[in-house]
Amino acid sequence: MADSIHRKAFFDHVAQTSDGPLALEIERAEQQWLYTADGRRILDFISGIAVSSLGHGHPEVVKAVQDQAARHMHVMVYGECIQKPQSEFAKALTEVLPESLSRIYFVNSGTEANEAALKLAKKYTGRIRFVAFENGYHGDTQGSLSVTGRDVYRKPYEPLLPEVTFFPFNDSSVIQGIDDTTAAVIMEPIQGEGGIIPAQKGWLESIRERCDETGTLLIFDEIQSGFGRTGKCFAFEHYGVIPDILTMAKAMGGGMPLGGLASSSDIFKAFMYDPPLNHVTTFGGHPVSCAAAHAAFRVLLREQLTERAQMIESHAKQILNGPGIIEVRGKGAMLGLQLRDKLLTAQAVERCLNIHDMLLGWTLHSNTLVRLAPPLTIPEPVLIDALEKIRESVAHFA
Ligand code: PMP
Repeated sequence: MADSIHRKAFFDHVAQTSDGPLALEIERAEQQWLYTADGRRILDFISGIAVSSLGHGHPEVVKAVQDQAARHMHVMVYGECIQKPQSEFAKALTEVLPESLSRIYFVNSGTEANEAALKLAKKYTGRIRFVAFENGYHGDTQGSLSVTGRDVYRKPYEPLLPEVTFFPFNDSSVIQGIDDTTAAVIMEPIQGEGGIIPAQKGWLESIRERCDETGTLLIFDEIQSGFGRTGKCFAFEHYGVIPDILTMAKAMGGGMPLGGLASSSDIFKAFMYDPPLNHVTTFGGHPVSCAAAHAAFRVLLREQLTERAQMIESHAKQILNGPGIIEVRGKGAMLGLQLRDKLLTAQAVERCLNIHDMLLGWTLHSNTLVRLAPPLTIPEPVLIDALEKIRESVAHFA
């Protein structure tokens, strides 16, 4: 088929991120389906990397976007004007969070939330040292990259932030690394790009305890694990360990760009003085994004989508076994399918896309792990059929 003019423009004029983009030409998307310009209907089993938890084009989210766009869009930098979608969403979100996370600072994206969290920790504690984890991922701007635990991504951009020490995940050596010079520990309670690795409960508790002893802030990056994906509203609820700062993005905006950090009034005061306006963000908490986020959040709670995440986990763990499959790990609908080797992984993912019209994910730091992150709203029969096709695709090459 001849290249469409859009395809040509994409390759000629849109800056490329690699030699091999997916390059599916998306015409529209509805629920768990992506429709392409060449007439394919592809099952989205990755939700735009854990974003579209409600599926695509949820009517309540679309209506919220349309109504708010008609009412007003950007009016003023974040924090100056009272904008109903923003305040209402912050109120609703903090109602489900612990009391110590009673305020939301809105930004635009995941990495921006982490940038703000790192700055806030420095300013609040007056310290500059950070503790982070091998294979952790926090984003690609320079602060977030400084605490991302993969040399291959960090090295080309050094020098980055000084005084960041990395420890192995789920390893007690970190405890000695946290002292009264540490501003914060930043971590994902379930590592995403690192290969869907849940933290062990006792280990997380010991980090919390050590942070309390040393006056170190604990930052949980729940950009990927938040908003119902793991079978709880936030992954920290699985552990009963509450962070001092919680960073969020991805599914937060219901498909619109939005990020945020939650913390206490006391900690956020560090952004208000000496000087005021410490962390300016023009578009942070955009009213259309906040309206979409609030609508998506209402659906998440009303339809108890966390329970659907648990249903997805139990089917995946039951169906995905057999030749070539090592294990399925993770929580809820934040799952990783560990396969035997790199070639098998590439072949199985390719077969799912080309034969079964199913888009599966990868993680940045592993080439033997398939990321499974379907929309939480996926109908059960569609889910079961998809999982059987994944098992077939692996077995085909195993
Ligand atoms: N933290 C985690 C845990 C993530 O998974 C991601 C994105 N994959 C980010 C931060 C960065 O988010 P964004 O792409 O919105 O900057």
